[in-house]
Amino acid sequence: MESANAYIITPPSSVAELSPPLTPKQQAESEAYISDADLPPALNPDTDRPVDADIEDNYVQRTLANAKPKPPITWSTLLGEINYISTALIAGVPLITIYGAMTTELKWQTAIFSVLYYFFTGLGITAGYHRLWAHRAYNASTPLQYFLCLAGSGACEGSIKWWSRGHRAHHRYTDTELDPYNAHRGFWYSHVGWMLVKPRIKPGVADISDLIKNPVVRFQQKHYVKLLLTMGFIVPTVLPGLLWGDYRGGYFYAGAARLLFVHHSTFCVNSLAHWLGEQPFDDKNTPRNHFITALCTVGEGYHNFHHQFPMDFRNAIRWYQYDPTKWFISVCYALGLASHLKMFPSNEIKKGEYTMELKRLERVGEEIKWPIDSNELPVISWTSFQEQAKERPLILIHGFIHDVSSFMDEHPGGKHLLSKQIGKDATTAFFGGVYDHSNAAHNLLAMMRVGVLDGGMEVEVLKIEEAQAKKKEQALAIVKDIENEDERRVAHEKAMQDVKRIEEEMQSALLRSPPEHIRNKKAQDYFPPSQQLHIRKAK
Ligand SMILES: [Zn+2]
Ligand SMILES: [Zn+2]
Repeated sequence: MESANAYIITPPSSVAELSPPLTPKQQAESEAYISDADLPPALNPDTDRPVDADIEDNYVQRTLANAKPKPPITWSTLLGEINYISTALIAGVPLITIYGAMTTELKWQTAIFSVLYYFFTGLGITAGYHRLWAHRAYNASTPLQYFLCLAGSGACEGSIKWWSRGHRAHHRYTDTELDPYNAHRGFWYSHVGWMLVKPRIKPGVADISDLIKNPVVRFQQKHYVKLLLTMGFIVPTVLPGLLWGDYRGGYFYAGAARLLFVHHSTFCVNSLAHWLGEQPFDDKNTPRNHFITALCTVGEGYHNFHHQFPMDFRNAIRWYQYDPTKWFISVCYALGLASHLKMFPSNEIKKGEYTMELKRLERVGEEIKWPIDSNELPVISWTSFQEQAKERPLILIHGFIHDVSSFMDEHPGGKHLLSKQIGKDATTAFFGGVYDHSNAAHNLLAMMRVGVLDGGMEVEVLKIEEAQAKKKEQALAIVKDIENEDERRVAHEKAMQDVKRIEEEMQSALLRSPPEHIRNKKAQDYFPPSQQLHIRKAK
């Protein structure tokens, strides 16, 4: 057994000076909001250690393998499976809103106040609950923390402690059964379903020992119901009442209708943000980026980025993308209320974008028909090329023999320029001698390849070798046809003398014609566009 303090390692004195002071021991709180009993405890109450301090390396696999999911909900078991507090809140708010909208006049002052109160309580969730407490994306001064705590309480989405624990589990076990709002269970389950009924499998463990020690989080946890009622309903009712005499409008519009929008706006981060949009940073899991989601969620719509870089205080990294939560945190930073805004290095962010862009290009490349690989084409001698060019229009360019019959009439420079190159090496003319062809022309030409010329061009040495080999073959062939053994021996001796003479002739011919290939420099250095980019997979 390890001792309770095994995880606290005493640092050397030089480091100790730089380390933050140890936080005094706090009693773990058991108070909670909405089905807290369904979540694992935040701290081990006996030792005050993070719940995952001794987590096994195979925790996820083992937990999923051993989990005994509750049986599916049926009509007969439904009543016992409902989370009554959250269901009453989620179902009651729209009913109150509809009744209020049908019976209450909307004053312009109340309308403006409701929108402002929507952003105030929305930011409490996005800048407070989410980026500050769940992700520690920046440090907030105590006044800012109380401001965000009050604002977030007005959104009526549970305490910071409860919300952050679920959200940390969501990031840690994204798209698995241990994720409390697993997007694979469908849009509506991840939107609200997970709050209406008890979870089928207990969500995975997530440490929030840092939050349990935070005085603001503790303050909220202690007074949560009072704060919820005050910030959720009393303030939005009383302020319009005192300022312009509209208590009723305040209650129905700034209270209920505003709360309905705040609820579904933040619920969209779990549903819409895992369902709609692009994946420019990674496609391993469901999170996606979309402007519409950003609009609906006070800037939490760049969720593909967020799941890749969860501790970054931004969701949107481009200046033109809509992320008011980021703007709010930046203003707080400018005012000295926030510090240590975390940003992932842009070099690491670019790696993700680059990888996804390559994947996209690969898919484009797979739809393109590429020319036949040179290894699959027949190798043809110069003489054979000459003979075959009498039957069909074959032109040699850059070592490849092309059948241009389908292109004779299409050639932009005219048919006559192709006709005069049939059976010839047109490399120099093609590479700028007559016209410096475009990359498109190179690509098109490559599709007409029918063979590779032995030696790559008209080479004297190869022609000599080919002719001499033929002569040797003929000389030896005569011997085979002679039936009398003596005669055959004599003929064989003569044939061998002939072969020797042919070889000597070839040697002197080779000396006269040096084997260096004088190549077209431009053609030698040329790579087709597809190879220049190095994107195509090697076969
Ligand atoms: Zn998510
Ligand atoms: Zn998050």
